[in-house]
Amino acid sequence: MIFTRKYFNRSLAWRSCLGLFQICLLHGFSSQVFAFELDGPKWLGAETEFYVELTGISDTGISWNSAFIAAMNDWNNETPFNFILREEAKDPCIRDGLNGVDFKPDLCGSNFGSSTLAVTFRRQLEQQILGEPLIIETDIVINQDVEFNVFDGKLVQFGIQGLDLRRIALHELGHVIGLDHESANLAIMASSIGNIDRLREDDIAGVEALYGGLSNCTIKNLNFGIINAALDSNDCTVQELTSGGSDTSFVEIYRFDLSSETSVAFTMTSPSLDSVLILADTELQFLGFDTKSSNSCDSSLSQVLPPGSYFLVANTYDVPVKEGCGNQGSYQITASFSSGGLTALGSGISLSGGESSAVFRGGITRDNGASFGNQFNSGDSLDISAEIDIDPLHQGQAGFLVVAAMVGEQTLLLNQQGQFVDSAENPGFIEKAANRTLSAVESLSIATNLVPEALNINEIVVDFYVGYGLSSNPGEVYFHQTPLNLTVSP
Ligand SMILES: [Zn+2]
Repeated sequence: MIFTRKYFNRSLAWRSCLGLFQICLLHGFSSQVFAFELDGPKWLGAETEFYVELTGISDTGISWNSAFIAAMNDWNNETPFNFILREEAKDPCIRDGLNGVDFKPDLCGSNFGSSTLAVTFRRQLEQQILGEPLIIETDIVINQDVEFNVFDGKLVQFGIQGLDLRRIALHELGHVIGLDHESANLAIMASSIGNIDRLREDDIAGVEALYGGLSNCTIKNLNFGIINAALDSNDCTVQELTSGGSDTSFVEIYRFDLSSETSVAFTMTSPSLDSVLILADTELQFLGFDTKSSNSCDSSLSQVLPPGSYFLVANTYDVPVKEGCGNQGSYQITASFSSGGLTALGSGISLSGGESSAVFRGGITRDNGASFGNQFNSGDSLDISAEIDIDPLHQGQAGFLVVAAMVGEQTLLLNQQGQFVDSAENPGFIEKAANRTLSAVESLSIATNLVPEALNINEIVVDFYVGYGLSSNPGEVYFHQTPLNLTVSP
């Protein structure tokens, strides 16, 4: 995160000009690594609707509309960007939150200038917590006094009048997407119109870089409970994550999935980091952040989220803001949740690589199922349960159920007497919690009325796993990826 953001809301962008193009864009971001030029701002989710209804037809018999739509399709087919076509006329001179294109006698009230072919306006930007702002509206105004045509190949050809509108549309749509002029390599985004009539490698690489920031960074699974990690030079920077801007602060990204409305709470503590916690959806649209929960270097954040997939982003400042806090070092995140029912425990895996379509759910409650969560006090009376939707191929077969509790390096397995025994005492043996003919849904009661304090436990972190297997293949156990976490504090 950058402490003081420079935010500029530019509205006028670029004009491509007859003969030599004029350069009309300020350069927000230019990377030394890539040849193509990224302007910085981009569209949420790498897509936008574009309204097109151009009337008229070229000398070569191709309508202006189909030439423009063909240009949109080129970007769609060859890059990760997606223009959604809306075949409807929208006045590009009106700021209406919609992207439109049309021929105009002037530049929405001002002069085109003698050599201007078309202008792409960027009318609205929306500031983001991290990285460059999002583009909200663009419009393309085409100079109706220029003689256009539609043709492939060289710009000047014997017997063909006018300028090819298709390549001009390609170029302007490149600005809409967020590309700037390219001077080093052959590209449709070259600063002057020429013989290039289609997208080139550099144009495509530019869009991939602009919208591929997430692929620059490692995304870890968030397991509720306690996470110990560090922000340092092994991590991605915000600049890499968002493909733009000048924010070189480190980030770590954790993904989590919610199957029902859930209240989540996160605390990031660090002896050395000026901590920043950010919640986002998986397209990096930011939902909330906290940078200063107290006078310490810590950060905390809580929110109620609908079902869906989310990112928790652990970040810091590029330049530390708080006195005594730095911009790299170790941190701890405490992640807790509360929901109204059992939670999904991730996709199924197995000990020996066998496949199962089983679905796992689990929950811990202190109020007889009114709410479920992972963060409890040592005096709470806890009920811990899980359910498995058994793979239909395994239903009706003789099988067994397994419950494991991981405490640090120790693995405890639940036996048929309802006690957890250390697996190290009997290496290689899988203790069964129950043997039975497998039903469609197996319910497991892992603990009832468990009061940690009564067992002299004031503080503990336990990750539970449940699984099942078939008596015909006792070495194989099907279980889940996300642990059922229990975090007890005094
Ligand atoms: Zn341009």
